[in-house]
Amino acid sequence: MQKPKGEIRNKRRTYIFVVGGVMSGVGKGIATASIGALLKSRGLKVTAVKIDPYLNVDSGTLNPIEHGEVFVTKDGLETDQDLGNYERFLDEDLTRSNYMTTGAVYSSVINRERTLGYGGKTVEAVPHIPLEVISRIEKAAELTDADLTLVEIGGTVGEYQNVLYLEACRMMRLKNPKDVLVVLVSYLPVPGSLGEMKSKPTQYAVRTLNGTGLQPDLLICRATHPIDQIRKEKLSINCNVQPEDVIAAPDVPTIYEVPVRFRNEKVSQRIIEKLGLKVHPSDVTKWKKLSEQVQKQEKPVRIGIVGKYFSTGDFTLSDAYLSVIEALKHAAWHIKRKPELVWLNSEDIERNPATLKTITKDLDGILIPGGFGTRGIEGKLMAIKYVREQKIPYFGICYGMQLAMVETARNLIGWKDANTTEIDAKTTHPVIHLMNEQEEKMKDKSYGGSMRLGEFPCVLTKGSQAQKLYRVKQILERHRHRYEANPQYKVEFEKSGMYVSGTSPDGHLAEIIERPDHPFFVACQFHPEFLSRPFRPHPLFLGFLQAAAKHR
Ligand code: GLN
Repeated sequence: MQKPKGEIRNKRRTYIFVVGGVMSGVGKGIATASIGALLKSRGLKVTAVKIDPYLNVDSGTLNPIEHGEVFVTKDGLETDQDLGNYERFLDEDLTRSNYMTTGAVYSSVINRERTLGYGGKTVEAVPHIPLEVISRIEKAAELTDADLTLVEIGGTVGEYQNVLYLEACRMMRLKNPKDVLVVLVSYLPVPGSLGEMKSKPTQYAVRTLNGTGLQPDLLICRATHPIDQIRKEKLSINCNVQPEDVIAAPDVPTIYEVPVRFRNEKVSQRIIEKLGLKVHPSDVTKWKKLSEQVQKQEKPVRIGIVGKYFSTGDFTLSDAYLSVIEALKHAAWHIKRKPELVWLNSEDIERNPATLKTITKDLDGILIPGGFGTRGIEGKLMAIKYVREQKIPYFGICYGMQLAMVETARNLIGWKDANTTEIDAKTTHPVIHLMNEQEEKMKDKSYGGSMRLGEFPCVLTKGSQAQKLYRVKQILERHRHRYEANPQYKVEFEKSGMYVSGTSPDGHLAEIIERPDHPFFVACQFHPEFLSRPFRPHPLFLGFLQAAAKHR
């Protein structure tokens, strides 16, 4: 074991803006998180802020198919999946100050204007919006006392919507030219018809960025292949950056190798030279080990995920379940297995329940993650019944717990119309019902940011499987739901073999349920996936994966 090196405080606030060029979805979040991890390994105090350029005030009201997972911070803000990337790579808990949307920024400015906060001045998009953005970025840095704050601007340069954020960057840089850097994460396509890596789209992206008054300090060149010396020089000349500031960022077998690659490309070296920061030598040992560990595994563990937020047009996306996927991977690697994830569309199961037998044949475990609404629910219930009867390990998260209770109520207790009132408000057996405090909110249609959100304590039942896995008496987990188990039916559930193994400290809310008659049938009302870290897999995921590996 290497001796951990202490922090080196620079008593200066520095900032790196990360912007995207050419196209989205090329891993800007992972690049940002990896730069953060590298600089943290050098002893700096690092934090990261994500800016989303849409008008939604938070990500809570967005359809996951459109925007991917909603990540919840411990203080209960519904944010973008990149906050999850930052938490996993930085191994730090972030808060609501690490996230903003255009909707949130405009709301603050307009509210301030309504309360005469601008003292009668004309309030304008420029400079008042960028000033609000800057004050939020500075606040995030203050609150975490960060030497270095990474600021990722969502979208790509040239989009109308993120111009005011580039303006905020320009204004910050104008004020403190020595403290602010700009990194452009671009994409270099290799068109099949040419078989050659093309740099022109990146050149255009840099020109567009130049048009906003910004010059990139570093160009991160995402591509299927590493960028070669000829193209590095070409980009250097045409984009006005040094050749050593053109960074190769080819596709890698695991995202956890990115910090290692960036170190090899001297990314953090270039950054600290430009910002003039005092640091330790870089240390990527743990990332290197993890990446080797990931690639070494041959023995598979196959987990089926039953969900519905998969498809956009002809394409299948798994972004809606990003943290669940990462948490499964962390746990699988920890027990030296190669995770194989199989996507099971609950609507397909619903249409053709007979397929359950064949699709689960090679699966070692089934997970049902969080969800909302009616679509695909019966398919999920069929899957739960099947794995319960066949004794296939089951892990339910949030909706996955609520539906496990509905399934038991219908098929074991015998209440045929049992349901959650989210689906059937008139059921005679509302085993899952709206939480007390939610009634009023639903009447007023105040859907935004109004669920039970963020970290809450949960007391574990002595001797339960959950308690054995956590090995503590009380835990803190993050929530995002409006409905809960109806305590009225506790006795009947216990008679059917399902019991509550974790509750809120007042004993009122059921937070974990399990079935002792099953190899692994555990479900929780919270979202454990948000707490899993690559070097610290989550106990419940670990228990599930161990059971799955055993089932195989
Ligand atoms: N729809 C359910 C609720 O609101 C479950 C939410 C979830 O799975 N995140 O309680």
